[in-house]
Amino acid sequence: MCEHCTSATAHGLIARRGVLQLATAAVAALAVAEPALAAKAKAPPKPENVLSPDAALERLMKGNERYVDGVSRRHDFKHEREVLTRGQNPFAAVLSCADSRIAPEYCFDTARGDVFVCRVAGNFASDDIIASFEYAVEVLSAPLILVLGHEACGAVDATIKSVKDGSTLPGHLPALVAALKPAVEAAGTETGDLLANAIRRNVALNVEKLKRAAPILSAAADAKKIRVVGGVYELRSGRVNLV
Ligand SMILES: [Zn+2]
Repeated sequence: MCEHCTSATAHGLIARRGVLQLATAAVAALAVAEPALAAKAKAPPKPENVLSPDAALERLMKGNERYVDGVSRRHDFKHEREVLTRGQNPFAAVLSCADSRIAPEYCFDTARGDVFVCRVAGNFASDDIIASFEYAVEVLSAPLILVLGHEACGAVDATIKSVKDGSTLPGHLPALVAALKPAVEAAGTETGDLLANAIRRNVALNVEKLKRAAPILSAAADAKKIRVVGGVYELRSGRVNLV
């Protein structure tokens, strides 16, 4: 082997050794950095929202107490906007009536990124609503679903009148009546105020429907990954009473 070749081989060895050393160093660096990177990639934008189902319900109800007492928190929306560009991890999902007097974010004293809200007159779980909650539970890891009815619900009242009169409401309203009719009929067998009973029944029926919505919500409920609960909002006090 000529001097040039020896030299080249030596250079090659040194070069290879250098590459190996660099590669080893890079692997070591990655090994250190990887958990940090993984943790960063998976870190929820609101770590305080990572809660058990029971803790999530407790937080909602404490927020409602503040709202009832007129001591709601000041929410720093400017700061939250920045954090929430990275994603969302709401600690609760709420199915509320569309009634303008309810406003779930206000009545639980929550900020943005805290509550995943679906609203429809009469707060019933259609396929679209179930799909939305499947997203909230499966993708966003929300640990709680709360069905929120309210006193003097116009949608339930209209359904009672339609069922009693046998009348057909105009436009698309019959679809709403069909969805609320089971609650009205069930409440018809109870004593007391029909409207109040039908509102509670409607909440209870939709809690059960969401709990049993296969395959995603039912599996999450069975595994106790989520809780599905119901409540009725009092118009005068703002209090949510669980049913
Ligand atoms: Zn309503």
